[in-house]
Amino acid sequence: MNIMALRYGDDIIVIDCGMMFPEAELLGVDIVTPDLTYLIENREHVRALFLTHAHEDHIGAVPYFLADFDVPIYGAPFTLALVERRLEEHEMAHEPRLQTVEPKQIVEAGPFRVEFIHVTHSVVDCMALAITTPLGVVIHTGDFKIDPTPLDNNPFDLHTLADYGKRGVLLLLSDSTNVDRPGYTESERAVRPRMEDIFNRAERRVIVSCFSSSIHRLQMLLDISAEFGRKVALVGRSMTSATEIAHSLGHLTIPDGVLVRPQDVMQVPPHKLTVLISGTQGEPMSALSRVAVDNHKHVSAERGDTVVLSSRIIPGNEKAIFRMIDHMARRGADVLYGMMNPPIHVSGHASMEELTLMLNLVRPKYFVPIHGEYRQLAKHQRLAEHLRHSGLEDSFVLETGSTLEIDKTGARLGEKVTVGRVCIDSGTIDEVVEDIVIRDRRHLSEDGIVLPIIAINKHTGKSETLPEVVTRGFSVAEEGSDLIQASRQVVAKTLENSSPEEMGDWGVMKEKIRADLKRYIAKQTARRPLIMPVILEV
Ligand SMILES: [Zn+2]
Ligand SMILES: [Zn+2]
Repeated sequence: MNIMALRYGDDIIVIDCGMMFPEAELLGVDIVTPDLTYLIENREHVRALFLTHAHEDHIGAVPYFLADFDVPIYGAPFTLALVERRLEEHEMAHEPRLQTVEPKQIVEAGPFRVEFIHVTHSVVDCMALAITTPLGVVIHTGDFKIDPTPLDNNPFDLHTLADYGKRGVLLLLSDSTNVDRPGYTESERAVRPRMEDIFNRAERRVIVSCFSSSIHRLQMLLDISAEFGRKVALVGRSMTSATEIAHSLGHLTIPDGVLVRPQDVMQVPPHKLTVLISGTQGEPMSALSRVAVDNHKHVSAERGDTVVLSSRIIPGNEKAIFRMIDHMARRGADVLYGMMNPPIHVSGHASMEELTLMLNLVRPKYFVPIHGEYRQLAKHQRLAEHLRHSGLEDSFVLETGSTLEIDKTGARLGEKVTVGRVCIDSGTIDEVVEDIVIRDRRHLSEDGIVLPIIAINKHTGKSETLPEVVTRGFSVAEEGSDLIQASRQVVAKTLENSSPEEMGDWGVMKEKIRADLKRYIAKQTARRPLIMPVILEV
């Protein structure tokens, strides 16, 4: 969840405002957003929000930001279109002031003059920012790699960056995600040979999952499908919405007659069908996870189908992803994932040589590595050491909440400011909960606890008796009351609607039961008890 504030005197601009998905330990929390306390304390000084690109970890928390700030938001057309799509799910107190910008455009906000610079990354319409302040120029790279042959033939604007470098840059903030990798990150085009090979061999359906915002990857897959005479179905909410937006903005060209609606895929012969589907990270409710356990309305994976995970495995998601792959394998699908040569996926972040090139072009006086874990920031800091001979005076590894002060006499770490994570329960602004521990305690103290208990027969894998529902401190529900009886039916229904494979996967089942029962109880009672499904084998 990237967010940064730049302050000069009494004026503040904010760069990016991202969210992240919770780790497994945050059971019951839907998304995590940054704590905006510092900005709220300085509300009257905040002038504008600048967005570098459309990834969730950079724009996901904009709706929550807007609940507190009525300031202009600047970003590229694709970025703001995705923000707008997100805002549709929220009730807004005021009309958001979204202002689209083009590369090379300059925006003024207080004493800041911000120029947008086109960069290449894994999503379209990405920008770096060159921010001229009274003290000097600050360059914020956003996320980038230096792709010499981008699919849209729109290269990284190195000239403009070099120009700033020549004139002198006060501070560089640069993406550190892939500083561990030697050499150069491969061009997006490097994926094509592998994909062609897969399509060449595939005798039945090809089901490819990648991030829905990876528009160039999707373009490639649409083109290859058309060349191989395959129809393409776009499946999953984020997949349809991102492709719609990209198409309307001219970032995606859909070959004539290639698309088929998800509800019509069963009518297409398997060797004539490609499915582009969301859910690369094994999220339990995503379209791909549902296909894996044969519980998707329109799409199924069968013996001989080829399933391709064209994405990286985000650390922390390994278990969920491998579980999903196991399900696919059980269905007889051939699943391709992970590192391959030629690659099935390339990163959107710059490797060591590109990062060095960035440092050499910009030649800042001060350097702050951003975007990465501490070890990556520290490594990036060391990578910049050679610049000591060409003007670098100091560099800083900043942790969440750190501040850096720069004035005429130098740069130094300042006082820490309040930061943290805010857990959001179900995507609306008023469902903010402070932290997991507090959330659980609050739920327990106010709304009690509900334990659905499901007994599964070891031999049949089925639940043969009506599930029990036990409550403690949940005042609305007396033992044996209608609500309890109805809750038992809700759980039974969830079980009924699950495939045998889902039933075999308790992680998936617990999440499904929790979600369904939470929705039912909230609707009936407006309460949010802590729901902890218990599954027993008998
Ligand atoms: Zn990104
Ligand atoms: Zn990012």
